[in-house]
Amino acid sequence: MHCPQFRLGWMIAVALGSLAGTVSAATPMKVFVSILPQKFFVEQIGGDRVAVSVMVAPGAGPHTYEPKPRQMAALADAAAYFAVGAPFEDAWLPRITAANPALRVVHTDRGIDKVPMPAHHDHEPEGHPSASASPPVGKDHDHGEGLDPHVWLAPPLVLVQGRAILEALQTIDPAHGDAYQANFEAFRARLEGLDAHLRSLFAGRPGARFMVFHPAWGYFAQAYGLVQVPIEIEGKDPKPAQLQELIAYAKARDIRVVFVQPQFSGKSAAMVAREIGGRVVAADPLAEDWEGNLRGVAAAFREAAR
Ligand code: ZN
Repeated sequence: MHCPQFRLGWMIAVALGSLAGTVSAATPMKVFVSILPQKFFVEQIGGDRVAVSVMVAPGAGPHTYEPKPRQMAALADAAAYFAVGAPFEDAWLPRITAANPALRVVHTDRGIDKVPMPAHHDHEPEGHPSASASPPVGKDHDHGEGLDPHVWLAPPLVLVQGRAILEALQTIDPAHGDAYQANFEAFRARLEGLDAHLRSLFAGRPGARFMVFHPAWGYFAQAYGLVQVPIEIEGKDPKPAQLQELIAYAKARDIRVVFVQPQFSGKSAAMVAREIGGRVVAADPLAEDWEGNLRGVAAAFREAAR
């Protein structure tokens, strides 16, 4: 061509193309995660050197999930399993490791101080008739020892999980340790940017309430100074009397939005919404586009707390 710059650009493109070819020619490391948001985390750090399989299928809940036989078979050639403390792991990780003794299980939630699942909407004991009758810790069978498993919904806790993912990838594949480190630093910057955005979104709104069927947003609420008001009580739909209390609670505080997630039926959420003259809005704790989803849910919480 007449333009030397075009030629140079073309040569660079060819060189980059062959470089990309060599990278993708290397077989990516097969790894497993429990839930979709973790696929996002592992791909941020592993890039195209990892091929991530997700145990809990979209639309299924991580509380009572049972892995499929083909998933159990696929674990045989996986290099690592990134656990997050999802409730189904309690029953299944021992079986998974028994069948695959060489599999590296990475507990990405290690080092995170978990808090009890809310047993009731008893954030304000004063003026709440049944708060004293509620046990302080949820005994929900789904949530094991009653600790809140939803640690993937608060960016500062995701940073802890990211470090565990980084260390594991560097240990398994030390040849690319620098690349994983660089990816991690970029992910960390992204998390810090998101955290700053969420802080500014809720600044000046301390104690803003959001009502939600399944209380998956406790760590999120903790990180940004919000109050989660759950409808589900100890993993179950509320009884009629409890439902009436919730409705009265919501009316007294002018709560007009009830958040639900697609993995739960949300029948009582719809009922509460109807009774308070409000509406039901989706807030998915398990979306694969973790960051975009978190921004969207945060905006909806903010809007509902107006
Ligand atoms: Zn949950």
